[in-house]
Amino acid sequence: MTDVVDAPAAVKPINHWISGQAYAGQSGRSGPVFNPATGEQSGAVDFATAEEVDTAVQAAKRAFPSWRATSLAKRAELFFTIRELFHEQREELAKFLTREHGKVLSDAMGEVTRGLEVIEFCCGLPHLLKGGMTEQASTGVDVYSIRQPLGVVAGITPFNFPAMVPMWMWAPALATGNTFVLKPSEKDPSASFFTAELLKRAGVPDGVFNVINGDKVAVDAILEHPDISAVSFVGSTPIAKYVYETATKNGKRCQALGGAKNHMIVLPDADIDMAADAAVSAAYGSAGERCMAVSMVVAVGDAADPLIEAIKLRIPKVKVGDGMDASSEMGPLITREHRDKVASYIGADEGAKVVVDGREGLSDDGGFFLAPTLIDDIKPGMKAYEDEIFGPVLGVTRVPTYDEAVRLINENPYGNGTAIFTRDGGVARQFQFEVQAGMVGINVPIPVPVAYYSFGGWKNSLFGDRHIYGPEGIDFYTQSKVVTARWPDPATSQVDLGFPQTR
Ligand code: NAD
Repeated sequence: MTDVVDAPAAVKPINHWISGQAYAGQSGRSGPVFNPATGEQSGAVDFATAEEVDTAVQAAKRAFPSWRATSLAKRAELFFTIRELFHEQREELAKFLTREHGKVLSDAMGEVTRGLEVIEFCCGLPHLLKGGMTEQASTGVDVYSIRQPLGVVAGITPFNFPAMVPMWMWAPALATGNTFVLKPSEKDPSASFFTAELLKRAGVPDGVFNVINGDKVAVDAILEHPDISAVSFVGSTPIAKYVYETATKNGKRCQALGGAKNHMIVLPDADIDMAADAAVSAAYGSAGERCMAVSMVVAVGDAADPLIEAIKLRIPKVKVGDGMDASSEMGPLITREHRDKVASYIGADEGAKVVVDGREGLSDDGGFFLAPTLIDDIKPGMKAYEDEIFGPVLGVTRVPTYDEAVRLINENPYGNGTAIFTRDGGVARQFQFEVQAGMVGINVPIPVPVAYYSFGGWKNSLFGDRHIYGPEGIDFYTQSKVVTARWPDPATSQVDLGFPQTR
């Protein structure tokens, strides 16, 4: 993690947001924020102390009673305003992503649009919070269930979706009546600050949404804070596991989504051009820094040679450049260190064949670029197979049969997304039935569920038992209460010391 930095004088300070206003950090610690396309430092983000985390939590705690008591009609109306404002400001928001994350603007707009879908889903909050009701469960007795908010909840988010992943959390959390503390990635925090400004403009009361910036110190303060009821986390697997274990040990509800190694099977009967288009899009979009990126193509039988040839033909056409340039299709990686780590996988495994080397032909003008890379003949046990590389490196593994391909996926410790490309409906259906992953694409390479389903992986891609957003997100941020009620009829009233039974 980044530690104390002396920021150049020209860089923009990025503060916390507490109780409806910017809050300049007092810790004296900050982290550098870069424009990855130029390599220049553009900002210095405050790193919070445990006391500053507490200040944000207390603001959220004070705001909770009146926010939870706000009628569903009023909250829904506010959500429609939030939706309109974010829709109107979507390009402004997307520009923060391109400037600090590096993804190309069209992709950043796509991220914001997918996040907006979650806000739109939450506009239906009165319907989502409807409970069940049973009249006359016993004579004169009705039973009904209601869902109530948890209180102060927190979200800890990764660098790769600086707007959408926070929306996955704060939108359902606020819609269900909770107040929120967000700890965004320290690498690209400005989108979260802008989100806070927009929510205030929309009319969200002060203290309902707060942003606390920082590193492990802030995360640990959240995980240990007695007034935080639940934590949503999205990030890498080792930190997800740590967050889940620490949060639950401290009595919190927790959903912690981790990393991935997504395999895409291509069967010999698939449309090879369509599969190659999909593999190139899903491997190199956002420079491979997506938890749903395809990082391994599993080519079955005769599919391998034509598929690799088709992917190879497409790679030189991918335009790599500054994400603000409308002609760019793929931007840089998040930091120089990460770019160098990703590049270190190229040529590192004996027996694997580098077909296209993304290190070639790149001028070192300061940006954190690496061009699309293709490596053939990767096998389990190799570093490029075992690790989540999280960059524009697509591996190919060749297997003789469909069964062998599925076995690879099911034995992998991750289980986030997966896909199959085939024209055979029967095989696709069998794949859907037996594959061990949370999100499955059939001729769809990045099967991110629409907002009215929920997003989440299996195995080491998710710790906890609730997926994020959609119906499971509503469940996660609420607790149910069941009421058993009798309005006495004086004519039937009597003393009865027996255990209550249905009558
Ligand atoms: P990361 O785990 O390094 O950081 C995520 C968050 O944890 C950040 O807010 C960071 O400040 C904090 N953090 C980092 N190290 C910590 C530590 N030692 N103790 C406490 N907190 C710590 O992840 P990242 O590099 O920002 O994001 C990329 C990862 O996120 C990839 O592994 C990717 O697959 C994963 N991801 C998963 C999903 C999903 O839905 N499953 C979605 C997006 C990203």
